[in-house]
Amino acid sequence: MSPVKKKPAMKPTKRPSAKAPSVAPAERARKIYAILEQQYPDARCALTHHDAFELLVATILSAQCTDARVNMVTPGLFARYPGPSEMAEASPEELEGIIRSTGFYHNKAKSLLGASGKIVEEFGGKVPQTMEELLSLPGVARKTANVVLGNAFGKNEGVVVDTHVGRLAVRMGLTKQTDPKKVEQDLIKLFPRESWTLLAHLLISHGRAVCNARKPMCESCALAELCPMIGV
Ligand code: SF4
Repeated sequence: MSPVKKKPAMKPTKRPSAKAPSVAPAERARKIYAILEQQYPDARCALTHHDAFELLVATILSAQCTDARVNMVTPGLFARYPGPSEMAEASPEELEGIIRSTGFYHNKAKSLLGASGKIVEEFGGKVPQTMEELLSLPGVARKTANVVLGNAFGKNEGVVVDTHVGRLAVRMGLTKQTDPKKVEQDLIKLFPRESWTLLAHLLISHGRAVCNARKPMCESCALAELCPMIGV
C-alpha cells in the first residue's frame, strides 16, 4: 500500500491589507474631502428639478431606481401635474401609469398623493423647510428630507446616506455602522456642517466612478493612501 500523500498547504489568498492610516480621523476626513472635491468638481444632485416640489417628487421616485430612469419619467409627470395641488388631485391609476417604470409604483403613487395633499392642506402649497415638517409628509424619511433640505433650500441638516455613501464610509473606515442613520451620525461628527450636502454627492460620484460595489479600483484610487480598504 502506497503512503497517503499529504496535500500541500493552501497559500492564503492575497488581499489588499487593511492599513491603519496614521493621521487623526478629523484630519483624514478633511484630506479625503479635499481630494474628492478636486476629483469631482461638478458633483451635484443628479435628479433633474426646478424647485423643491420637483426634487421631493424625484427623490421619492428614486427609491430602488436609478436617477437616470427617474429623469426620464419626471418631465412628463410634471407636465401633467405641475405642482402639489394638481398632483394631490391626480387619479391614482393615471399617476401609477406615468411612474410605473420607476418600480414600486403603487406605493410611490400613494406617497406622492399623500405628500402633495398634506403640502396643500397644511403647508399652504409650499414644501416645508424643516426636518420635522418634512418627516411628517407621507413617504418622506430622513434621506429624502436631507436631499430636499440640502439641495433645494441650501440647508445642511444632515448627510444623505444611500448605498454608495454607506459602502464607501465603511471601506474608508469612517464608520463601523451599516444602519444609514448611524452612518450619518458618524459622518456628521467627522465632517464640518457646511460640507454635509456636497459630501454625499462627492462620495456618490466616487462610488460610481472608482469605488464601485463589486470591483473597487483601489490601485488607481486617489484616496488609496488614506483608505484602510476595509472589507475590500
Ligand atoms: S477604491 Fe479602494 S482605496 Fe479607493 S476608496 Fe474605495 S476601498 Fe478605498
